[in-house]
Amino acid sequence: MTRDDTRLAEAHGIPMEQVVDRLGIAGLRRLGAELVGPCPVCGGTDRFGVNVLTNVFQCRKECGPHAKGDQVSLVQLVLGKSFPEALEWLVGPRQELSPEERRALDARAAENRRRREEAARRAREQAILQARTVWARAGAAEGTLVQDYLARRGIPAPLLAPMPKCLRFVADLPFTVPVKGEAGRWRTIHTGPAMIAAVQDDAGRLGAVHRTWIDLDQPSGKARIVDPEGEHADLPAKKVLGSKKGGAIRLRSPAGATTMVMGEGIETTLSALVAEAVPGAAAFWAGVDLGNMAGRRRLGQGLRYAGLPDLADDEAFVPPAQIRKLVFVQDGDSDPKLTRAKLEAGLRRAMALRPGLTGAIVHAGEGRDLNDVLRGT
Ligand SMILES: [Zn+2]
Repeated sequence: MTRDDTRLAEAHGIPMEQVVDRLGIAGLRRLGAELVGPCPVCGGTDRFGVNVLTNVFQCRKECGPHAKGDQVSLVQLVLGKSFPEALEWLVGPRQELSPEERRALDARAAENRRRREEAARRAREQAILQARTVWARAGAAEGTLVQDYLARRGIPAPLLAPMPKCLRFVADLPFTVPVKGEAGRWRTIHTGPAMIAAVQDDAGRLGAVHRTWIDLDQPSGKARIVDPEGEHADLPAKKVLGSKKGGAIRLRSPAGATTMVMGEGIETTLSALVAEAVPGAAAFWAGVDLGNMAGRRRLGQGLRYAGLPDLADDEAFVPPAQIRKLVFVQDGDSDPKLTRAKLEAGLRRAMALRPGLTGAIVHAGEGRDLNDVLRGT
């Protein structure tokens, strides 16, 4: 190894988040494994992303030769330095940094991190407030299009009765998208009836609402969301507002339930519920999305399908302490192998944090399969 190789390896060992902080890149928000926000060079609102797991950043506008890459490339992009200069800026030679310089650099990184976390916290609180406002103005789902929509999805009202309290209805919910190039501004591209589902955190507080825009003229029962300005094509008719971390949609929660069945979506979970696979006592919660059910996974060489949870992730779903058996319902998916690995990671997290709990995965629509799992010991 030449001296530069060693120093490059050292540079690659610096977490990307720390490089971001040292460079003073502002305005990034945490979005899963990514920090997303304006590009420090060409601006915008969300064209720049840093993956903190893979330590790779990218400017989607491709604003220069270093618009994508590693720690060194990021320093080159932001400070306009050559490769040797950027490497030196990152890793040394360390002995040339005086203790005061080292302290000043560390203090600057700490201050930038504090600011970013504060901004993220404020944005999250704002979103939770908005979610609670949507929930408060929504009405009971009985006798509304919510029942017709669910019937269309194979879940007729009589089988579901009583209607889960976590589902509500709004007749005229706006669907908004961010205004391009104007941070914090939104425009409405659709207004119509919607099913609102409460996403509750582990303490039972409402952290987010899951919204499904309804249009019974469509075969799926879901609205077609078309942007009149043509900036977006065929947007999904489902969106979450608020902070869903670790939360779930509690479709049925019998007191004392020790078995929990969880699908990703409301419809999948309700289908399992009405299949009467479980005599009586299981809880049926929807996990909102696969990322929330799986949590962060350990990644690296050969680990893509290993299904190992990163137990340092404290934002993933973990079932309540009374649950002894957790059954995940796997949806049809374009990459079933990866989906399964993610679900396995979620189950292993639950088993690690709830000693004695057992986990299982069944496939959506295979009622008998689910039935066997639930009856078995
Ligand atoms: Zn850029």
